Amino acid sequence: MPEKQSQLERFKEAALELGADDDEARFNERPRGIVTPAKKVCPECDHVFQGNGWDGIDAHWRSKHEDVMPYEEAWPLLRSGKYTNS
Ligand SMILES: [Zn+2]
Repeated sequence: MPEKQSQLERFKEAALELGADDDEARFNERPRGIVTPAKKVCPECDHVFQGNGWDGIDAHWRSKHEDVMPYEEAWPLLRSGKYTNS
């Protein structure tokens, strides 16, 4: 039955269009919904963390500054902005 088939085709196209519209709507909402946080900077060596917030500080600190202060002690200070490089 060709008529039924064409109806199905139209339905599929409509569904695809809906899906595309949906994606576009979500894409357009993204810039409004996300607040870009300021990049975090290592107070010891000015390394800028390129991820989300302090992403990577763990590995970075342990490999570079563990001798200055153990990560477990430094992290709460870094996170609260109280770490001072003295
Ligand atoms: Zn560093």
